[in-house]
Amino acid sequence: MRIPVIAGNWKLYKKTAEALQLVQDLSSLVKDVKGVEIVVAPSFTVLGPVRSLLFDSPIAVAGQDCFWAEEGAYTGEVSPGMLVDAGCSHVIIGHSERRQLFAETDEKVNKKITAALRAGLTVLFCVGETLHEREAGETFAVLDRQIRTGLNNLSPVDMEKVILAYEPVWAIGTGKTATDEQAQEAHAFIRQLVAELFSSGVADALRIVYGGSVKPDNITALMAQPDVDGALVGGASLTAESFAAIIRFQK
Ligand code: PEP
Repeated sequence: MRIPVIAGNWKLYKKTAEALQLVQDLSSLVKDVKGVEIVVAPSFTVLGPVRSLLFDSPIAVAGQDCFWAEEGAYTGEVSPGMLVDAGCSHVIIGHSERRQLFAETDEKVNKKITAALRAGLTVLFCVGETLHEREAGETFAVLDRQIRTGLNNLSPVDMEKVILAYEPVWAIGTGKTATDEQAQEAHAFIRQLVAELFSSGVADALRIVYGGSVKPDNITALMAQPDVDGALVGGASLTAESFAAIIRFQK
C-alpha cells in the first residue's frame, strides 16, 4: 500500500506575505484530509517562515534544490543540512528546469541525491524526456540513463526515502498533460527498472508521482492508473483552491 504524495513546486514565485497567505489558506482547506502526504516547496528565502507557520501541520516543506557539499566555499549554494535546519523534510532534485537552465547533469543529480539522503531528507527525484526525445522514440532510453545514473550507489534502505517524479519536459508549464496511458506506461517502465536495479520489494514500495500540467480536472484520471502514486504540481500549486482540489482527488 503506497501512500499518495501530492507536492507543490512554487518555483520562483511567492515572497513572504504571499507565501504565508497561501499556506494558511491551504492548511484550512485540507485540514480534514487523511492518507495523503502533502508537500510544499517554496523558495529558499521563505522556507523558515513557511515552516514556522506549519509547525503543527502535517504539511511537509521541501527545498527546490540543494548542493552536494555540506559547507565550503560555494557562493550561492544551499546545503542539505541547511534545508534540514530550516525545517525541510524533503527536497526536489533534478527538476528539468535545473537540468535545462542550470546545466545539471545526471552525475551532479546523483551527487545531490546522495548528499540529501545522508542529511536525512526525502528526495523527490525528477526525470523525464523532452519533446524531441519522445518524438525520436528515446523516452525509455532517456529514463533509463537518468535513473541508472541518478540512483547510482544507492542502497535499498536509501530508496525508502526516494520518491520518483516522472515529468515529461513537454508537459511542464505547457498545459499539455501526458495522457493517462502515457503516464502509466512511463511509470510502469520506471518501476520495472527499479526492480531490476534493486529488487521487486523496493520497486513495489517506491512512490512514482507524475508531473506536467496537473490540474484539478485531470488528477483523478491520472491517479486511477495503477503505477501513479501522486503528483508534482507547478502552476496549480500556486493557489490554495486549485492545490487543495488536487489533494482532494478521488481515487
Ligand atoms: C513542475 O514544475 O514540476 C511542474 C510539473 O509544473 P506544471 O504543473 O506547471 O506543469
